Amino acid sequence: MSFPISFEFFPPKTPEGAEKLRVVRQQLYARQPQFCSVTYGAGGSTQQGTFSVVRSILQEGVEAASHFSCIGATKESVREQLAQLQAMGVKRLVALRGDLPSGYGLGGEFQYASDLVAFIRESTGDAFHIEVAAYPEVHPQARTPEADLQAFATKVRAGADSAITQYFFNPDSYFRFKDDLQKLGIDTPVIPGIMPITGSTQLMRFSDACGAEIPRWIRLRLQAYGDDAASIRAFGLDVVTQMCEELRRRGVPGLHFYTMNQSAATLAICERLGL
Ligand code: FAD
Repeated sequence: MSFPISFEFFPPKTPEGAEKLRVVRQQLYARQPQFCSVTYGAGGSTQQGTFSVVRSILQEGVEAASHFSCIGATKESVREQLAQLQAMGVKRLVALRGDLPSGYGLGGEFQYASDLVAFIRESTGDAFHIEVAAYPEVHPQARTPEADLQAFATKVRAGADSAITQYFFNPDSYFRFKDDLQKLGIDTPVIPGIMPITGSTQLMRFSDACGAEIPRWIRLRLQAYGDDAASIRAFGLDVVTQMCEELRRRGVPGLHFYTMNQSAATLAICERLGL
């Protein structure tokens, strides 16, 4: 069997974005992904858009995973959406807590992703393969690294089948996380999430918000390139490809690409990796 890869998209906001994503998907399908996943705005804000892209992927003959976040949701609304996804033929979910934009009250009947995983298992049995999020560099709101590890273990015990990580640029954080899990007796597959580097400002803003560390040597080089986009892309391609090579060599079970609805960088990495 070929080495498993998967691609992540977000639901586009405009008809032009939808058309562009359709083309991007076709380009990426040539790499034969195991599945393609579609993000879901917390609070259900993108539910229609998410489900619509998921439906298109399935119609294109590719396995689709719907992300599903529970913050602010009621059991009734989750039950209804799970039924819709089952009727569409979806067999894979990425179950998340999500983050509500500030100003929203928490409300809802779920506090953590583990509550959602347990609820999905309780109400739909084994109908879905459930992925959850993993944070080798620790989730930004975790009380301690140990508490975050325990929170991950709770998601697995609640019924998660496998996990996808937040992106990282330091493979040691991933392997340390895997070792820690092993000590807890957890050998659930954890698939590294890979963020191609295509720009500098957005990546730095994003990474600060989600708690992904950009190593100093990468940050300084990106800053030094200024707005020389071609050099940033070339450097990013080298760095990310080398990291993927190392991850593969050290035995990761697959790679999940955050495509940002663009094909060029992900395709270039796959090409260099011979995937
Ligand atoms: P949880 O696993 O519930 O963890 C959230 C925090 O609570 C952590 O700090 C954890 O340590 C802590 N915690 C958990 N359980 C307990 C407990 N019992 N007691 C005390 N503390 C606890 N966001 C979206 O809105 N839409 C998406 O589509 C989306 N896709 C993602 C895909 C991947 C692969 C990843 C890695 C992230 C994604 N996110 C998405 C972001 C995610 O929603 C945020 O990182 C969010 O802040 C946490 O979600 P979670 O499912 O990891 O939460």
